[in-house]
Amino acid sequence: MLFDSHVHFDTSRGEHGITALVERADHARVTDILAVGGSPALNRHAITAARLFPHKVRAAIGWDRDQALDGRRTGIARDPQSMLHYWSNRIARCRSIGIQISALGEIGLDYHYAADTAPDQRLLLRTQLAAARALHLPVIIHSRDADTDTLALLKEHVSALPDNPRFHPGVVHCFTGTTEFAAGILDLGFLIGLSGIITFANAKALRQTAKTIPAEKLLIETDTPYLAPVPYRGHRNQPFFLPAILQCLAETRNEPAERLAELTRANALALFSI
Ligand SMILES: [Zn+2]
Repeated sequence: MLFDSHVHFDTSRGEHGITALVERADHARVTDILAVGGSPALNRHAITAARLFPHKVRAAIGWDRDQALDGRRTGIARDPQSMLHYWSNRIARCRSIGIQISALGEIGLDYHYAADTAPDQRLLLRTQLAAARALHLPVIIHSRDADTDTLALLKEHVSALPDNPRFHPGVVHCFTGTTEFAAGILDLGFLIGLSGIITFANAKALRQTAKTIPAEKLLIETDTPYLAPVPYRGHRNQPFFLPAILQCLAETRNEPAERLAELTRANALALFSI
């Protein structure tokens, strides 16, 4: 059984799209999925997926780096109390319809596409990290071309966490950083999520880094609908493709795929308190 730890669903063409993806995932033994938010629309889709499949799909909600362009959301970020209030209300509303929110995410920094909004991205990330601490939720972190700032903010976050050895701070998802960045993240107690990028021909350095990550710190993810793995390049990504990522990771690490499947699933279940 496999856990796809990062999936963005789309309900804009109806809920049957979610049903088709989740049912097809079953045929690849992908039994668990974390539906991840990031924008108001993605958050709604994640909640819908968790409502449709309460035993297979869990939800994470948050505001990603692109929300730094939105005046209302950056306005909320200027007041940490408002940020906490916003997410605790949203989470309470989910709970009232029987949906448990498993993490805040995805949140983070991307200087590759939007370096001009960097200060607002940092503000959004910092205040959402503070909200996650107050709500005792792990976080799902995106970081692209921003590893120094990401590491600094995560360090600040972890040092402010209450002392609880059983609490996992979160995961840096779709990891593409250096071995040094990976070591820094692991030092802080974060897990590392590997996506289909690991299967790409030009991802030699990433595969080298993947060998250095302890198995109990690894998650696997499709990052649906983006980044379909080899041999599905050019297709719209979906959880059904997760075994291709697992297989590549197993070969890279010279470990049995079955064992990695079990471990990464157990890691995800523990991280998201399932
Ligand atoms: Zn994502």
